[in-house]
Amino acid sequence: MMPEAIPETLQAKIEKRLRYYEDLGIRLFYRDRAPSAGSVTTALLAASDTADAPIAEVSPSRAPQSKMQMPVAVSGPSLFEAAERVKDDTLPRIREDLGDCTRCKLHKGRNKIVFGDGNPKAKLMFVGEGPGADEDAQGIPFVGRAGKLLTQMIDAMGLQRKDVYICNVVKCRPPENRTPEPDEVQACSPYLLRQVDAINPKVIVCLGAVAAKTLLETTRGISQFRGEWLEWRGRKLIATYHPAYLLRNPNAKGEVWKDLQKVMVELDLPLPKKAKSS
Ligand code: URA
Repeated sequence: MMPEAIPETLQAKIEKRLRYYEDLGIRLFYRDRAPSAGSVTTALLAASDTADAPIAEVSPSRAPQSKMQMPVAVSGPSLFEAAERVKDDTLPRIREDLGDCTRCKLHKGRNKIVFGDGNPKAKLMFVGEGPGADEDAQGIPFVGRAGKLLTQMIDAMGLQRKDVYICNVVKCRPPENRTPEPDEVQACSPYLLRQVDAINPKVIVCLGAVAAKTLLETTRGISQFRGEWLEWRGRKLIATYHPAYLLRNPNAKGEVWKDLQKVMVELDLPLPKKAKSS
């Protein structure tokens, strides 16, 4: 049965109340019983099909967040807990501290350290895995094939690369583009953490499993939490597929675009007309 439409004035009231709760930091609303047919909240609850699912979004902008739960974390001390926090940190200072880094074995094969690129005050930060051959040659993240696709994705969001900040979990190219190893990730993570703190973005987008698993310190597969809003050290984080994965699996582009549209809503960026109605 189709849920009844909510009168506009009532919907506005509900939205206002939900915003009020959101401002208080209360974002999840659970139903503890099935709504009776015709109840005021029926339409809001209609999209939830499990007893503990949050209510559906009521407005594309400033909508209450669906989930902010952390995926199951790996046990042991946090990668980031021990990392030194530097008061009033800046990107140039972090770069200087990184220096001509030899803290892990990746330095042996690198041409250039790929520190990061973009706006030091960006509201949106993308974190990838590690430099590939093109990035290693130029010292700039995401400039190869996957990078071109990322640039197009940023463009589709109505932004330019200079509006956002882009970096990687590891700053030196792993041989044969292999996945960075735990000791390499560990050596580089204090610098990533400092980059996040210095930039202070509103939203972090993890590109691919390595970035997501590293930041969230989880062993769960990315597909289990891709597209979900998560909380990371007081900031909003969303994981999506890596552009290199999209080059191999173009069918997944739609999923990534949906994730990026969630980011656009969060950043108050105008959605393309077609997307607004869906
Ligand atoms: N893939 C990444 O994860 N980072 C880059 O900089 C380029 C490709």
